[in-house]
Amino acid sequence: MGDGEELLPSFIDGLQASWGSPRSNLLKTLAKIPGIYIPALYTPKYSSDDKLIGVIPIDPDIPKSIAKQTWEGNKLSHSTVITPEAAWPNIHMVEVVRSCPELCRFCLASYLTLPFRAPSLESLFPAVEKGLTATNRLGLLGASVTQHPEFMELMNWLNEDCFEGIRLSVSSVRAATVTSKLTKILAKRGSKSITMAIESGSDRIRKVINKKLSEEQILAAAHYAYEGGLKGIKLYGMVGLPSEENSDIEATIKLALLLKKTLPQLRFTLGISTFVPKAHTPFQWHGIRPEAKRRIKLFKKELERNGISIRAESFSWSVIQALLSRSDRRLAPVIASVRGSQQSLGGWKTAYKQARENYQNSEAYAYLNLPPPPSWNEIVNDFWQPSSVLPWTHLEGPIKEDLLIKHHLDAMKIFDEKSPEAK
Ligand code: SF4
Repeated sequence: MGDGEELLPSFIDGLQASWGSPRSNLLKTLAKIPGIYIPALYTPKYSSDDKLIGVIPIDPDIPKSIAKQTWEGNKLSHSTVITPEAAWPNIHMVEVVRSCPELCRFCLASYLTLPFRAPSLESLFPAVEKGLTATNRLGLLGASVTQHPEFMELMNWLNEDCFEGIRLSVSSVRAATVTSKLTKILAKRGSKSITMAIESGSDRIRKVINKKLSEEQILAAAHYAYEGGLKGIKLYGMVGLPSEENSDIEATIKLALLLKKTLPQLRFTLGISTFVPKAHTPFQWHGIRPEAKRRIKLFKKELERNGISIRAESFSWSVIQALLSRSDRRLAPVIASVRGSQQSLGGWKTAYKQARENYQNSEAYAYLNLPPPPSWNEIVNDFWQPSSVLPWTHLEGPIKEDLLIKHHLDAMKIFDEKSPEAK
């Protein structure tokens, strides 16, 4: 668990030291290396009413919890193989930052990978130059690349004449950090559009999720994109966030229409995904909200006819994601039974129902010594009390649970104060 730069050398050392010993001994040796998690060496414990009450090691020598490893070196990763067969063909990818200091409360990319790290330019320059001997396409990668404290220096360097002809793309940028200088350089280096994750057009929801972004900053970023010569803007939004109401969706629609009206020359695309709770974030206790499905349709109806393209993630797959994200080992027989099927939401629901109904006769549950899976709604939709034991309780994230609870309560305060109907 954690950064491979830190973990891999000790894993390989451990593997070599025990090579040739029986598998059970090898696994026990590896389990003592910080960051290595061997699920078979931990047993979940359930109460008499089948609630998870803990996950404990089977052997007193094995650590009670697994400590995530953090790489603190002044060097992050970059592509080592550049090929047309890659997911991003022929692009040299350079990781500019790891994690994100913004702490939006749903965000796994930020919370799970803390602390925020940004290598020095002296480390980034050779990483960029190396790849550009093999391709002219460069991608700057990270949860929020413009957060690098010297990002504009990096961009100014890439703006120098020696980089004429390279095609530069950056992953999603924070709207508050967009300037006309940045968009000019991006346009000059072949970018056609800029991607910004605004999450919501509603001020209240942006406060609930801790997205420190104002409507003025979003509008200004769009203007800068146009001024700089970009042709389009991709916005990312979410539906089904905790406490979200119809009025918040209307605010996002209003903002998207305002952007299109103010800057008709730009091509606007709105990517919509459903909020899915993720472990080790302050929203890990919240479930999927069924209203999200209808709200995605509303976006399509109201925006597509006004010339804004909608790229919506499948609501059904978001529900399956939530099932995978919040279940524990009791899901294993369900996963086995959907394997090879079409894996639609209906297929998962049927398999889940069958697992609960056939529990008494199930060899898999008997072999794994597990109680039956809880109800579908309990896993996918219900709010879990912060006092409950979570399936990942034995896996240490970068932030202690009491601090996550505080972040969660801070969000609750905002939606209690301003949205009495949402609880
Ligand atoms: S700004 Fe983006 S990457 Fe950073 S915490 Fe928020 S959603 Fe995550």
